[in-house]
Amino acid sequence: DYELGEADPEVRGIIDKEKERQFRSLELIASENFTSRAVMEAVGSCLTNKYSEGLPGKRYYGGNEYIDELEILCQERALAAFNLDGKQWGVNVQPLSGSPANFEVYTAILNPHDRIMGLDLPHGGHLSHGFMTPKRRVSGTSIYFESMPYRLDESSGLVDYDMLEKTATLFRPKLIIAGASAYPRDFDYPRMRTIADAVGAFLMMDMAHISGLVAASVVANPFEYCDIVTTTTHKSLRGPRGGMIFFKKDPILGVYLETAINNAVFPGLQGGPHNHTIGGLAVCLKHAKSPDFKAYQNKVVSNSRALASRLTELGYKLVSGGTDNHLVLVDLRPLGTDGARVEKILDMASITLNKNSVPGDKSALVPGGIRIGSPAMTTRGFSEKEFVTVADFINEGVQITLEAKKLVSGSKLQDFLKFVTSPEFPLIDKVLN
Ligand code: PLP
Repeated sequence: DYELGEADPEVRGIIDKEKERQFRSLELIASENFTSRAVMEAVGSCLTNKYSEGLPGKRYYGGNEYIDELEILCQERALAAFNLDGKQWGVNVQPLSGSPANFEVYTAILNPHDRIMGLDLPHGGHLSHGFMTPKRRVSGTSIYFESMPYRLDESSGLVDYDMLEKTATLFRPKLIIAGASAYPRDFDYPRMRTIADAVGAFLMMDMAHISGLVAASVVANPFEYCDIVTTTTHKSLRGPRGGMIFFKKDPILGVYLETAINNAVFPGLQGGPHNHTIGGLAVCLKHAKSPDFKAYQNKVVSNSRALASRLTELGYKLVSGGTDNHLVLVDLRPLGTDGARVEKILDMASITLNKNSVPGDKSALVPGGIRIGSPAMTTRGFSEKEFVTVADFINEGVQITLEAKKLVSGSKLQDFLKFVTSPEFPLIDKVLN
């Protein structure tokens, strides 16, 4: 048995380059983080070798006494991390990631073609909440279910709950989904509960982005109002790449969620659980109960706020005017540029963030905004002072983008990208510095 460097220098080399890239750059992608060494050790362990289809005590393979112990520990820690009473809530820790977790919920409680409402993707929602365009049902969720997304009020940048209520009253969805990939504010869970109850719908929260903030109680608590809560485990929670589904134990709308969800995960949509991930997740969830995890999550929010204030001071327009969580959404359209061009220039300067649509955008390929997140650089020790500097760097990148735009012949994004990556680009030193 050889170490990786000996067995496969090519893959070792790629991992080393990626590690160097991760440490060299300012990592500002809101859905990313640096997990701990302890989590990585569990994920890279012999747990990956074992098949364990089924649930603890009810497996389809032998030799699972330690895997059972691990999965039960992980479930207990998951409930404890979110202060849940095991008599009222249960959890499945086997989902392979966020999108599968969501589809497992839909499989559990819906029939094909049942109606659902989630936040529209161009307004901050996630693909798996039912995204479709007028031409195409893009996400599997919109292929198998009838999706009628709700949207933001474009003037405030906040969810338009009045319109959600009106549409839900007409559309009568069986499921309403709260949660987002690019929404800088809390959801109004009491309002969404009232709407769901009025139309007889389940209420689910996909807290993927903010699960770390929820665990540390620095944002509103979805468990007080929702029937089901799903999450990824690798974003603000700082765990390995995976997913979880929390469900109420009492029957909801006549459905025993525990049985329906567990069956939808296995054998419905998955086979053997990724036990190495469940090991890493258990480690992460233990950490989530520690005082330094709470301090970290508080810093994630104060850093994001510092970034938002500095960008506002510099004259930028932020969707919803600021942030209550780990991310800031900047509308670049008033400056005459877009997210795709700014993303490229910042990428060349090792500042990693992503282009993002903002309410009112016409094109999804060249969206008008950028999304900036604080979790990863907070993990690396940044505080508010450094995030003010980050805002200044982003501003420099935007200014260079505006200057570069003037020098490019042709207005297509492709022309711009070709020009700024060519040796003729005169501002390259400015970008690299
Ligand atoms: N839900 C939300 C709100 C997300 O933002 C994401 C991913 O960014 C997902 C689900 C999907 O997670 P995954 O990429 O693990 O499938």
